[in-house]
Amino acid sequence: MLDIKVLASGSKGNAYLVGDGKSRLLLDAGISMQRIAEGCDWKVSELAGALITHAHDDHSHAVDDLTRRGIKVYVPLDMAAKHDGTKPYVSLVNITLGTFDVVPFKVDHDVLCYGFRIKSVATGDQLIYITDAAGMPYRFEDINYWLVEANYSVDILDKRVEEGMDRTRANRVVKTHMAVEDLEAYFEELDTSMANAIWLCHLSDDNSDAEDFRERIRRVTGAPVYVA
Ligand SMILES: [Zn+2]
Ligand SMILES: [Zn+2]
Repeated sequence: MLDIKVLASGSKGNAYLVGDGKSRLLLDAGISMQRIAEGCDWKVSELAGALITHAHDDHSHAVDDLTRRGIKVYVPLDMAAKHDGTKPYVSLVNITLGTFDVVPFKVDHDVLCYGFRIKSVATGDQLIYITDAAGMPYRFEDINYWLVEANYSVDILDKRVEEGMDRTRANRVVKTHMAVEDLEAYFEELDTSMANAIWLCHLSDDNSDAEDFRERIRRVTGAPVYVA
């Protein structure tokens, strides 16, 4: 079993803790060091490492605080030069952090952005973390936990454009974030019988409907679905 703890999710900040009973990983650090420390029950030094998806502040805010505290922080190459002590990912090359084996892969955003397949060697569980991605990059099999962006709904966004939302802004959302419809179609084609939990994250304040999103994904997967 994996333990997933949401510290923050959405455009104001993203940070999640994943634990397997032996080690703990921090996924994104888009909140203050204070809030991360509190979320770790003040045991920051016990983190096996931190994985930062991309440079946007809502994912990377506390990077320098983490490296200063001696935490291993992995970042995309464009961030590594700007943040002393961080290590860059190489696409599809494994990283070992504590009892976790991590495979980073690129996703489609407006800056260099990575998703992760994270396997616990302690429990055998596999988790996918994908956020700030305009679509799912691969067909992942045998996944036990999903932490995936469901940023907006095409219907809600279209309605907002009709009501006067700037079309350029709407197009930017479409090009850089995940629609619940895309996620629904993705899961419909996939065998999700191994899924213990699906967490939907980074929901937009204006362009989403948490209860509807949860129900849509639950219907196509039959898995327990939670909104971060
Ligand atoms: Zn974001
Ligand atoms: Zn972003």
